Amino acid sequence: MTDMNHLFAAFRAAMPSLDTPLVYHPGGGEETYGDALALSGRLAHLFIARGVKPGDRIAVQVEKSWTALAVYLAAVRAGAVYLPLNTAYTLAELSYFLSDAEPTILICRPEVEADVRALASSLNVPCVETLGTNGTGSLTVAAAGFPEDFTDVARGPDDLGGILYTSGTTGRAKGAMLSHENLLSNARTLKDYWRFTRDDVLIHALPIFHTHGLFVATNVILLAGARMIFCPKFDAKEALSLMPKATSLMGVPTFYTRLLDQPGLTREATAHMRLFVSGSAPLLAETHRAFSERTGQAILERYGMTETGMNTSNPYDGDRRAGTVGFPLPGIDVRITDPETGKLLAADEIGSIEVKGPNVFRGYWRMPEKTASEFHDGFFITGDLGKIDPDGYVHIVGRGKDLVITGGFNVYPKEVEGEIDALPGVMESAVIGVPHKDFGEGVTAVVVRTKGAALTEAEVHAALEKRLARFKLPKRVFFVDELPRNTMGKVQKNVLRETYKDIYRSVA
Ligand code: AMP
Repeated sequence: MTDMNHLFAAFRAAMPSLDTPLVYHPGGGEETYGDALALSGRLAHLFIARGVKPGDRIAVQVEKSWTALAVYLAAVRAGAVYLPLNTAYTLAELSYFLSDAEPTILICRPEVEADVRALASSLNVPCVETLGTNGTGSLTVAAAGFPEDFTDVARGPDDLGGILYTSGTTGRAKGAMLSHENLLSNARTLKDYWRFTRDDVLIHALPIFHTHGLFVATNVILLAGARMIFCPKFDAKEALSLMPKATSLMGVPTFYTRLLDQPGLTREATAHMRLFVSGSAPLLAETHRAFSERTGQAILERYGMTETGMNTSNPYDGDRRAGTVGFPLPGIDVRITDPETGKLLAADEIGSIEVKGPNVFRGYWRMPEKTASEFHDGFFITGDLGKIDPDGYVHIVGRGKDLVITGGFNVYPKEVEGEIDALPGVMESAVIGVPHKDFGEGVTAVVVRTKGAALTEAEVHAALEKRLARFKLPKRVFFVDELPRNTMGKVQKNVLRETYKDIYRSVA
């Protein structure tokens, strides 16, 4: 039994002097490593005082802020499992997460406190605290009464540090359990691979409820003892203005298309930056080319997912090839198998992407069968389809799981279809992603009405708005007499994608 907190001990070991800034606020002001230790120490004391035991979940649905970052660190230090939730989730969705994860503490935004408290009490969540964007709310008031020195709770490599929910093809979200070692090994690998040091300043403009902004970005910065400019959200103009003070940006492809819309994006404007990383969705080769032309810098594309952290990356030195996600990261095995037979495929053959390594998660929370069915001889079946070319670069060619990725967010068609099918006047529906200039893909619904029903697009929108997070809402709803099906009776989504492929062409 270790007496160390596996992940936080590594953060401590990497820490620069305590007066070094960890976070710069884009509008001015900063928070140091010492501030991070002090605030997370008080919060960790509070969590223990509220009854948190090692392995208990702390669920957090708040806006991005410096204090929210300290909550993550405090949860780790208190030996708890950090469970962040997208603020876009509705109460109905929150209800599912709370009953599934059974957290000891739920931290929510002050403006939804009354509704959330009522829900939490009906689901026996023992403690609710609030946290607003400027560190306001009951959480920080309560934490202020505790000392800043805190002895980190011992946690071993296999103990859980976080659970991130990822929607399933069945529509039921699954909690991906990530251990301290999953998080630490991946952050170490990325820090070295992408050469992060104490000299780095990252423009952090991603949300921190998702693996990209939370684990990739912040864990790498903490392990490097580096600094970040913590932006509440991505604004291309602001990001551009910060570049002379920064060294790196981690983004989704939408960041880069928006940056390209800025006339000020030039070689000079980006001269202080050493690294632009893209991931979470496919970066168009066209975007990669245009960005190189304007700035002289090749975007480094990488590939990962909630369950595994990062799996592959284009090289730091050497050829960053547009349209590929680069090489398997050190210590991580990536292989391509035949989706039907499971047989290993040769170079350039397209099949299932499977991954093995210290980064691969510990399974889905309370779903042992589901977990077992997604592993194949010790490899995790990612659900993505791809190939490895003769030079060793991994290419992603499609998604076996039919996921739609819109503005970097995942939408599983099945979940949206379930909500539409439940509406009066609907016989069935199919939800697809089709190319969208700004979002990468736009969620689109194709609906068959029951005989005589006069349901309209506006009515479908109005009904869904109450049930689904905004990013999942179909941008357009089309009505048809019947859905195209193959001989096996399966809806041919490829046919639908073809039919509607141009509808967002002109949308900015
Ligand atoms: P998430 O679990 O939200 O991180 O989503 C993971 C999924 O995003 C992967 O399974 C891929 O389908 C997709 N993805 C992530 N990075 C890339 C990339 N660079 N290119 C294409 N798809 C990607």
